[in-house]
Amino acid sequence: MELPFTPPQFNKTSFNCPHCNAFANMDWDDAYQGYLGKMMIRGLKSAKCVCCDDYSLWIDGLIVYPEEISVELPNKDLPEDIKEDYLEAANIMSKSPRGSSALLRLSIEKLVNFLDAQGKDLNAKIGYLVSEKALNPKIQKALDVVRVVGNNAVHPGQIDLKDNQDIAGKLFRLVNIIAKEMITEPNEVNSIYEELIPEENKNGILKRDSN
Ligand SMILES: [Zn+2]
Repeated sequence: MELPFTPPQFNKTSFNCPHCNAFANMDWDDAYQGYLGKMMIRGLKSAKCVCCDDYSLWIDGLIVYPEEISVELPNKDLPEDIKEDYLEAANIMSKSPRGSSALLRLSIEKLVNFLDAQGKDLNAKIGYLVSEKALNPKIQKALDVVRVVGNNAVHPGQIDLKDNQDIAGKLFRLVNIIAKEMITEPNEVNSIYEELIPEENKNGILKRDSN
């Protein structure tokens, strides 16, 4: 079972690392100046992630490095340009939930293109995945939520996004759910298959399914 996302918090012994995203223990330390007299720098603390060994820096209880984002990090298997859109959407979410939702809509458009969906627009492409690729209804719904909410962000409709960070925040979760099912899980199954199944069996399986 997947653990819920736990955002970084001052002096907490574990949270989702802002660098590697793993839910990991954090080694907290005071910061010192000089190496002989060792002057403690008041108010400055570091937390080292035991998973990736990278640090976050905190001044007076607030994270200053890395720039904190209040949503879960993008799925690591997403293509780089989609991750960039996702992170940009996260960075503007507090100021502009509309802009954020529009960017996430763009990111799922790129994602369905990455999955070779055909069609004249995003709506048609989702339809293609449903009819031609047996798209899981759960993923179809997730895609349609991001599509419809994103459209409302661009052409104001029934969903008012202006000051609504809650709605925008939920879209990040959906983009990651989509990425996990459409990219991460197939990759995992493929690599286990390649590792464990002998060539002879692979040929047999290919033959079975080509009939
Ligand atoms: Zn880490």
